[in-house]
Amino acid sequence: AVPTAAVRARAEIDLSALRANVRALRARAQGAAVMAVVKSDAYGHGAVPCAREALAAGASWLGTTTAEEALELRAAGLPGRILCWLWVPGGPWRPAIEADIDVSLGGMWALREVVEAAWAAGRPARVHLKADTGLGRNGCQPGEDWAELVATALRAEAEGLVRIAGLFSHFACADVPGHPSIAAQLAQFREMTAYAEQQGVRPEVRHIANSAATLTLPETHFDMVRTGIAMYGVSASPELGAPKDFGLRPVMSFSAALALVKRVPGGHGVSYGHHYVTRGETTLGLVPVGYADGIPRHASGSSPVLVDGKLRTIAGRVAMDMFVVELDGEEPPVGSEAVLFGPGDRGESTAEDWAQASATIAYEIVTRIGTRVPRAYL
Ligand code: PLP
Repeated sequence: AVPTAAVRARAEIDLSALRANVRALRARAQGAAVMAVVKSDAYGHGAVPCAREALAAGASWLGTTTAEEALELRAAGLPGRILCWLWVPGGPWRPAIEADIDVSLGGMWALREVVEAAWAAGRPARVHLKADTGLGRNGCQPGEDWAELVATALRAEAEGLVRIAGLFSHFACADVPGHPSIAAQLAQFREMTAYAEQQGVRPEVRHIANSAATLTLPETHFDMVRTGIAMYGVSASPELGAPKDFGLRPVMSFSAALALVKRVPGGHGVSYGHHYVTRGETTLGLVPVGYADGIPRHASGSSPVLVDGKLRTIAGRVAMDMFVVELDGEEPPVGSEAVLFGPGDRGESTAEDWAQASATIAYEIVTRIGTRVPRAYL
């Protein structure tokens, strides 16, 4: 696990942990299909290898945000069903249809575009109608909007231009146990799917559950759950609990090699803005990763970096490519491992600790680890 001198930093991706997490999620899903959400390069873990492992461990669908992400998975030879759910006008509908990718329709404009593309491709598009049950983001509003989308999609289905494969929605607050919007969204989803089915829609899958709902709200599972963050062994929110509370193990560990260890006198300013000044003679270590690699600038002043068995404090501002830690008078050799985060077994921080230290969510910590950091698959 210690980076060699030639490796500035690396993210280790423990694929056996990912497989175990998928199996744990399958058990939680109690018969519902599991979609492995691998958008945004699998939350920074690497889309293609993670998708492959997730399918091998029993996930039966893959989910992405963009069509480009879905097409990349197909180009890498990934089989099976892939759904992508965020479109803008003029998007690659036809390549998606031809690559056998399921597409989400969040409004009438999208239905018009997909129908045109299906006509041109000479084959039906598999579509999932997206309902806004209360998130207030993507998808059709209940009532007239939904009725129009359902009716028009059914006509296109009768003409052989689409196949309505799914009805779906997304939660706003599933990671906040007991939040009143959960029950409201669930009731709205039941109503909107029931309406569509009364009109003649015969979906293969109805789906609304994300990781938090998969783990804690079995009544939301329907035919499929869409799990992202839990599959990577990362917590959806502090209120929900730690990954290990659900038998999940963090997949990503991130470490770097100390690039310099030195003593400086008291009164020495450190890093941009000199927001930190040494009180007395101090040993400092240079960690060669910065905000360009995904280290949050707001983590300055917290103590999340494990060097030589101790958690060290970030001295001064995190810069683009590096930051400095206080080494408490010790002088570990240059090249020593600085563990930024991991499962926590060795006393290192977790992604959740970094999130807390920088007032964000653990999703952002793992997803933002930059492309400059090589991933090593274990
Ligand atoms: N479904 C949709 C539509 C999403 O946008 C996301 C991610 O935000 C997910 C599922 C997965 O969510 P999570 O990572 O919380 O499991």
